[in-house]
Amino acid sequence: MNVADPHVIACVVAAVFGLLIGSFVGVVADRVPRKESIVRPSSHCTACAAPLRTIDNVPVVSYLLLRGRCHACGAHIPPRDLYVEVTTAVLFAAVAWPLPTFWAVPAYSLLAAGLVALSAIDLEHKLLPRPVLYVTAAVFSVLLVLASWPSHRLGHLLFALEGAAACFAVFLVIWFVAPKAMGFGDVRLAGLCGGALGWLGLGATAVGMFAGFLFACVPAVFLLARGKANRKTALAFGPYLALGTMVAVCFGRTIAHAWVNL
Ligand SMILES: [Zn+2]
Repeated sequence: MNVADPHVIACVVAAVFGLLIGSFVGVVADRVPRKESIVRPSSHCTACAAPLRTIDNVPVVSYLLLRGRCHACGAHIPPRDLYVEVTTAVLFAAVAWPLPTFWAVPAYSLLAAGLVALSAIDLEHKLLPRPVLYVTAAVFSVLLVLASWPSHRLGHLLFALEGAAACFAVFLVIWFVAPKAMGFGDVRLAGLCGGALGWLGLGATAVGMFAGFLFACVPAVFLLARGKANRKTALAFGPYLALGTMVAVCFGRTIAHAWVNL
């Protein structure tokens, strides 16, 4: 691997940027379910309310240096922030590599950040808050239009609409048939993921949805096997759909291509 390769430089820059955005994603994942403002007050310890020092705000590094404890009272800091920052950084680097056009990197990086926030909240609260989903969808749509123009892919916006409608419809049917198995938030999320995948093409859409269902099966089978769930247990489907979508965004065209050539 040549470190002067523009791809490598882009990935490193994207990862650092992802760490910074990941800090904000952590704030969203922490505060939105508690219906708190994501702007004020500034970051503080949830146990003793001591404000975080600048040195406590360095993504990942601060958590490791403080060994996951508040500098003032020693209360345990949830590791969620660490996972969220690292996941966002990895996804930003992964997105910067394979997209068909560089112009689409901001849109799909924003999508990654939104999906990380939604997944973190869904895993913890079994909830996909509408404000996070709508803001992600709105900003993503604007960025996608801005990416389509210079890259001569305006026609792909129609594919995005078709992908959104198709995936929304499939999940709507599942929700209608088995409303206990999945929340309506999953149906909305499927619309967002379908739109993002649709812009990349039919292959990416198929890979993303298939991967989402496949990933969701793993914990379901595990819980069923251990007798901790039955067929009526609600599972947080959002994170698996989000993961399947990001796998397809990064590797979808390669996977679809390999599949067709089998
Ligand atoms: Zn504290």
